[in-house]
Amino acid sequence: MKKEFFKLSNSYAKLPKVFYEKIKPKPVKNPRLIHFNINLSKELNIDPNIINEENGKLIFSGNIIPKGANPIAMAYAGHQFGNFVPQLGDGRAILLGELFAKNGERYDLQLKGSGRTAFSRNGDGRSPLGPVIREYLISESLHYLGINSTRSLAIVSTGEDVFREKRMPGGVLTRIASSHIRIGTFEFFSYKNDIKSLKALADYTLKRHFKNTPKKNPYKFLLKNVLKSQAELISKWMSVGFIHGVMNTDNTTISGETIDFGPCAFMDQYNPHQVFSYIDEGGRYSYINQGKIIFWNLAKFAESLLPILSDNTKESKKHAMECLEVFPSYFEKRWLNEMKKKIGLSKHEKEDHVILNEFFEILRTNNLDFTLSFRKLSKYLTEVNDDYFCKNVRDKKKLNSWVSKWKKRLSKENLSFTNLSEKMENTNPLYIPRNHIVERIIESSVSKNDFTEMKRFLKVIQKPFSEDSLTTEYAVSPKKDEIVPFTFCGT
Ligand code: AMP
Ligand code: MG
Repeated sequence: MKKEFFKLSNSYAKLPKVFYEKIKPKPVKNPRLIHFNINLSKELNIDPNIINEENGKLIFSGNIIPKGANPIAMAYAGHQFGNFVPQLGDGRAILLGELFAKNGERYDLQLKGSGRTAFSRNGDGRSPLGPVIREYLISESLHYLGINSTRSLAIVSTGEDVFREKRMPGGVLTRIASSHIRIGTFEFFSYKNDIKSLKALADYTLKRHFKNTPKKNPYKFLLKNVLKSQAELISKWMSVGFIHGVMNTDNTTISGETIDFGPCAFMDQYNPHQVFSYIDEGGRYSYINQGKIIFWNLAKFAESLLPILSDNTKESKKHAMECLEVFPSYFEKRWLNEMKKKIGLSKHEKEDHVILNEFFEILRTNNLDFTLSFRKLSKYLTEVNDDYFCKNVRDKKKLNSWVSKWKKRLSKENLSFTNLSEKMENTNPLYIPRNHIVERIIESSVSKNDFTEMKRFLKVIQKPFSEDSLTTEYAVSPKKDEIVPFTFCGT
């Protein structure tokens, strides 16, 4: 008898067969559980003994199928760099089932790198260990920064090599998501003109993600809410200098969670046109383009819903347009709110936009570090001078005049400078997974088989806002020779 470490339910597998392929993970040669997210496992009601028993650990490599699982690979399509691909799908991910967490919500338990599926095309269904570690570090970091993200439960090394540019050790990541439904999942059925399935997907999504769906125009309600949650998500990414790097529609969730951590990275020096991904030559997914691109993706979502928004084509278009046309101003507002919070502003004044833009201009012209600049700014409210700006800003007169303008504006907040400074420190993180740190950790983990720094850093990113004198090395921008300007999609 198999021991049950958690209870699984399989609501997605109950949908029609066109939604997925039933497929079991392919066992790996020599699985080793490298890391397990105990905190997350508690939230998910997983028996903590799971990692003390061989039959438990082997679930995370796919060598043992847990009781109650009905494993599937999900079908989806998507626009990749603007081009439609009608058939994508989980080419190397397998959904084992769904868990109910302590908060009462349903979460997908998925293995990534667990073998080929019907959707693998030319891929090997596997993942190198390096990108598994990158996903774990960055998804967990986003979570602790207060940004919606899929989570990472476990890292396994497989004892098998995978081939990318070269031979690399393989890994399996256990991913947790409030669902894996993507804009691309809707596009999959819409493109095939399979309206029955499209409707079934929309109904499933509404039931799973939204309470209080109105009887009238339920799919317009879905569209509106996805627009909102994506505006929130992208403005939050931008508030911490996060660049996703591969914002294809198959990598845009309906839940509003960040997904797919291939070429993503946080910027060091502020550069609105920053791109890390080696393949993003045109800068389609650059830092500053993320708002425009999500709008493009959401327009594709609206388009895929057209057949069910109404029985009448003209009416459907009208519904879609009504939702889409308010997006730019909604996004702008969300973005402005997030950014204003960073400089201590909660109230609304006409000059806020100008003050922010002038600050960005100081960052840009002096090549200042995005994260540190916001973090150190609050020091102006409690100390006479701060080293960071004094050392790094050339035009001090301009800086001082901006600071006076900003302070004058802050006085309208009706809070003491000490309180404002505290608020700002709880908004502006000190610890982010900087690209050179992530790369260094991947390098030592993979080539030296040494996971000490990874585990240490995972503790650091759990408290991104609390300064700790023992971990200051993670709170500085890279020296010139440490900068890692590119990320590779070779996942
Ligand atoms: P991504 O670029 O990670 O968003 O993936 C795009 C598509 O390629 C998805 O359908 C993935 O499942 C698939 N894919 C990526 N890597 C692999 C792989 N190693 N084996 C099979 N399919 C893959
Ligand atoms: Mg993807």
